[in-house]
Amino acid sequence: MDRDTFREFGHRFVDWVADYFEEVEKYPVMSRVKPGEVRAMLPSGPPAQPEPMESIFRDFKQIILPGITHWQHPSWFGYFPANNSPASVLGEILTAGIGAQCMLWQTSPAAEELEELVLDWLKQMLGLPEEMTGVIQDTASTATLCALLSAREKATGFESNQKGLRENLVVYASVETHSSIEKGIKIAGYGRDNLHLIPTDKTYALVPEKLEQAVREDKEQGLKPACVVATLGTTSSTAVDPLQAVGKICRRHGLWLHVDAAFAGSAAILPEMKWMLEGAEHMDSFVFNPHKWLFTNFDCSAYFVKDPAALVRTFEIHPEYLKTGLDAKVKNFRDWGIQLGRRFRALKLWFVIRSYGVEGLQALLREHIRLAQLFAGWVRENAQFELMAPVPFSLVCFRFNDGGEEQSLDALNKKLLESINATGEVFLTHTTLGGRYVLRLAIGQRTTTERHVREAWNLILQKTEELL
Ligand code: PLP
Repeated sequence: MDRDTFREFGHRFVDWVADYFEEVEKYPVMSRVKPGEVRAMLPSGPPAQPEPMESIFRDFKQIILPGITHWQHPSWFGYFPANNSPASVLGEILTAGIGAQCMLWQTSPAAEELEELVLDWLKQMLGLPEEMTGVIQDTASTATLCALLSAREKATGFESNQKGLRENLVVYASVETHSSIEKGIKIAGYGRDNLHLIPTDKTYALVPEKLEQAVREDKEQGLKPACVVATLGTTSSTAVDPLQAVGKICRRHGLWLHVDAAFAGSAAILPEMKWMLEGAEHMDSFVFNPHKWLFTNFDCSAYFVKDPAALVRTFEIHPEYLKTGLDAKVKNFRDWGIQLGRRFRALKLWFVIRSYGVEGLQALLREHIRLAQLFAGWVRENAQFELMAPVPFSLVCFRFNDGGEEQSLDALNKKLLESINATGEVFLTHTTLGGRYVLRLAIGQRTTTERHVREAWNLILQKTEELL
């Protein structure tokens, strides 16, 4: 492609994205294509000859776009958000243009130093303990795997890297923990049976007394407790495990404390939400996702550790071809995680923080929390609906309940969700809490306003009436 064509399409694509941001509301939130439909419209083999960008762009609009589920839609209330922002997209354009691979300080000094800087900014914004140091991972799943691997090494005196895991090390998390913990346990070689799930209370938060009891019993049985994963903002209902109490148990028994705050961690930038980090001094590692609720394009996961030496000792490798004369003086992030090659993710995050300012980011999050409380109020006031969990952040768990049989309520709520999503006007997802089928309305889109939340509620009421 020559420079003029690149320039022409570059300008058109930026125009297209700018319009998309404005007009995303005109698309059905969830794609309506059927399985196999997109693939069937595309040639099965690659083109032998170059194709003009005009026709590639046309196919993007005609074939790919209808198969997109619009996460940036203001009526996106599913799962958790994966929001972006104009500043983040502009940062991504430059990252793609530069195309730097950031495995060593030398492979782009500015990328390494900017990553250190923006993570230090995030540490200040959230109020994490001063002694923690950060690194960007792709996802919270990867960061948690890094924590589990470091915990494994620390518990075995850094021997299992060398000799393989020979003991039954045990990891604890609540029954509400994210599935990435189980995945990490499997990959890190602990064995699925050595993930011990601790019961929760009626707010779905881990019960510290039950954790203490499990650790003691496991020790008596000759097992070796190694790590606890606490969650601030569980996936189903954003329950908050009591960090202070869990942290004290970890210190008493010499366990690694990893904190998974993938979604809710962003809320700690608000002074009124700092309570969630009470006990943070006990954390060995902490992860949250700016790619969920801090307006930074997927992927971007901020991982902080108290003892970077333990992380580096877990991952470091020294092949001759990667050695530089500066290794003793600088950070080489290839040793801070699983990947060797790394994207320049710090740039978009730097753009986002600078372009909003901390107060701008706080205002957006505060509004999302307000909207969730507003919605929760409507649910509370309606005799046909009930809240199914506390609402500490911006996720509301609720269901229709007219006092009917539990099983028929599950089926009814499932049907209700399907009929709501089929309209394409909004997108909500579900979970189960206490064995009951529950609807989740997660607020976190950059452009979501009170109007969108009100329209969602009206649609829920309308679809409920139609179903009955
Ligand atoms: N932890 C929690 C509490 C989550 O809610 C999620 C995803 O929603 C994850 C981890 C996984 O995040 P990621 O997709 O960044 O791996």
